[in-house]
Amino acid sequence: MSAGTVTVSAAGLAESASPVLELTEVTKVYPGTPPVHALRDVSVRVQAGELVAILGPSGSGKTTLLHLAGTLDRATSGQVLVTGLDVARLSDRQLAGLRASSVGFVFQQFFLAEHETVLDNVADAMLYAGVSQATRRAIAAEALARVRLGHKLTARPTQLSGGERQRVAIARAVAGSPAIVLADEPTGNLDQHTGAAILDLLEELNRLGTTIVVVTHDQAVAGRMRREVRMLDGRIVSDAASQPAPSAAAAAAAASPVAPHPWDGEPR
Ligand code: ADP
Ligand code: MG
Repeated sequence: MSAGTVTVSAAGLAESASPVLELTEVTKVYPGTPPVHALRDVSVRVQAGELVAILGPSGSGKTTLLHLAGTLDRATSGQVLVTGLDVARLSDRQLAGLRASSVGFVFQQFFLAEHETVLDNVADAMLYAGVSQATRRAIAAEALARVRLGHKLTARPTQLSGGERQRVAIARAVAGSPAIVLADEPTGNLDQHTGAAILDLLEELNRLGTTIVVVTHDQAVAGRMRREVRMLDGRIVSDAASQPAPSAAAAAAAASPVAPHPWDGEPR
């Protein structure tokens, strides 16, 4: 922990303490003929409380980045710090512990256990947290209430709509109060209306304090986040605060991003 440092995130928020997530000059090469350079020299940091979009076309390296950030895979070179811990120095067992305590995942395909109740899908995510089943279920019920599925605790995933399934997955991701939630195309399998509701929910959880990174190929999804990191061919090509809701002045500025020629606006 580097105590006392104050940095300013791209979202313009003053933050103290070390970032939740920090990648420094990370590369990832998948072996093969030819090898695939999925990440090239990627550096990015995420502070507590942020809501970040990672936006890029298919194949740009977004999922690879998320897997490294979530310690599901290891970098070829460079450094990955999760809650200040250098994942390269941790054993697989320690990584599993770090994942269980600090990282929540949401996937496009939900990945729920179909034969288990909604309640146990969420409760079982805390199996490694060292708490009793009764406690796990109580925490799970609370998380499911937060995603407004408190009335579906005994249902099976097969009895739910796509949007409801994704809400279960989100409850599962946040139940253990992780330092960061990583969501890979969380609206990719949902219609637009249902997807928008899922984004509302993620926004609400972020307002309540959850740090969230959403990976997407969809500009409209990224536009809902407060910060947008763009990827192309394994590189970060831009990283900026998203446009705030436009004031009249901001809207005018956005309409003419290039400085006008002196004769612009003159009567012709
Ligand atoms: P995105 O999520 O942006 O679509 P990915 O991170 O999935 O991108 O993929 C980045 C590149 O790495 C692509 O060229 C993809 O084919 C390749 N890739 C991803 N996973 C693997 C893997 N396990 N083995 C080999 N190549 C992979
Ligand atoms: Mg992907």
